[in-house]
Amino acid sequence: MTKKTFVLLMLLLTLASCEWMHRKPAEPGPVSPSFKGTVDYDTYFSSRRLRLDFVLAGGKDRQMAFLESLHSECEWAGSPNALIDRFGYGQFFMEVFAGEKLIYSHGFSALFEEWRSTDQAGKQEMAMNQTLWMPFPKQPVKVVLYERVRSTGKFRKFYECAVDPSDRHIIPGPERYYSLKHLQIRGDYAHKVDLVLAGEGYTSAQLPKLREDAVQLMEYLFSMEPYKSRRDDFNVVLVESTSSSSGVDVPQEGRWRNTAMDSGFDTFYVDRYLTVTDHRKIASVLSGVPFDAVFIIANDSKYGGGGIYNSYALGTAGNRLSPEVFIHEFGHSFAGLGDEYYDEGSSAYDEDLYPAGVEPWEPNLTTLTDFKAKWADLVEKGTPVPTPNDPDAYGDKVGVFEGGGYMTKGCYRPYYECRMLNNTAPEFCPVCRRSIEEMIDFYVK
Ligand SMILES: [Zn+2]
Repeated sequence: MTKKTFVLLMLLLTLASCEWMHRKPAEPGPVSPSFKGTVDYDTYFSSRRLRLDFVLAGGKDRQMAFLESLHSECEWAGSPNALIDRFGYGQFFMEVFAGEKLIYSHGFSALFEEWRSTDQAGKQEMAMNQTLWMPFPKQPVKVVLYERVRSTGKFRKFYECAVDPSDRHIIPGPERYYSLKHLQIRGDYAHKVDLVLAGEGYTSAQLPKLREDAVQLMEYLFSMEPYKSRRDDFNVVLVESTSSSSGVDVPQEGRWRNTAMDSGFDTFYVDRYLTVTDHRKIASVLSGVPFDAVFIIANDSKYGGGGIYNSYALGTAGNRLSPEVFIHEFGHSFAGLGDEYYDEGSSAYDEDLYPAGVEPWEPNLTTLTDFKAKWADLVEKGTPVPTPNDPDAYGDKVGVFEGGGYMTKGCYRPYYECRMLNNTAPEFCPVCRRSIEEMIDFYVK
């Protein structure tokens, strides 16, 4: 070996080991979420809401969070008896501590984490805003963020900050920017699911259309179980947010609009994927509006939408299938349901999102890694596991059907057909219905 070859070899080895270190999966953090505990609301919180604006930044191999600003807002709409998230769903988890005591927790997902699964994230780093809300604390607290590690499915701590409620830099929120229309009020915020609908891409002259569209979508929601039986557990309020122009951005057609939340199609270059990338714009529309869940109604006839767990959902109002898209996307954002479809080519992601050996967090998907924790109790004796994809034999049985989560192999769904699979299924499958009910129970207790 010549000296030159030796130097070159050493250089290559050094580069390879740096690459290996860079790609090494993150070690579990010192703390993981606990998902349990009881908290007396009045001891720790005022009746108001604290808004925390974060920036999430990074690429495929790493992500960071940065606190950007704090805002004091209107009343907190959540139940005082539901301060600790017991589901553990989502790509992220927030915990809030007063001293050593856990006083609030909340699982959520973010568009940024989805972007990290795309091909583009392997080539460059980016940043997106993410707003979180919590009841306004009475004393200084510590806010901890966890991210879910893909290779293990477990949470690891990746960010921590202190929040002092007496800090004079907490920005007082405006009471609200837009007028509200109460579509259905069935009780106090604290013990109802407060569903807020908000207009996007409607000019002020189009407000009557927004009201009609909102009522149509709401009635569709309450025509389907389990929402139908649980209608009295919901308050529904429309934020009459208006935009300078009508419609939303469609980059693939070169169409751009100036709208309240800057929503657009072609997210991650997927034609029908409609999202808002700047979460602060949604937070701004929701200023002064108590809410538990939000659905954004986009004034456009193009087919599409998106739903991100405990973050937001949106869909267009002018398409023939708009009500179906609405109820599907709301399944993602409200109940953490996963997509049960699996046709290849429909995914924006460059890798299998549900690796073998890791149980998905979504309640309606399994890799059979920890199926007992999912819907095993709903599978009748005698139903084979996995269950053949045969609608004549098993079309009305809860089972374990291969295909789901954008994967034809290795990921399983609970029913042959469900609204989380397609728009023609007659209803949500029993597993999705149960998950939606459990979420309603959490908000109303
Ligand atoms: Zn389902």
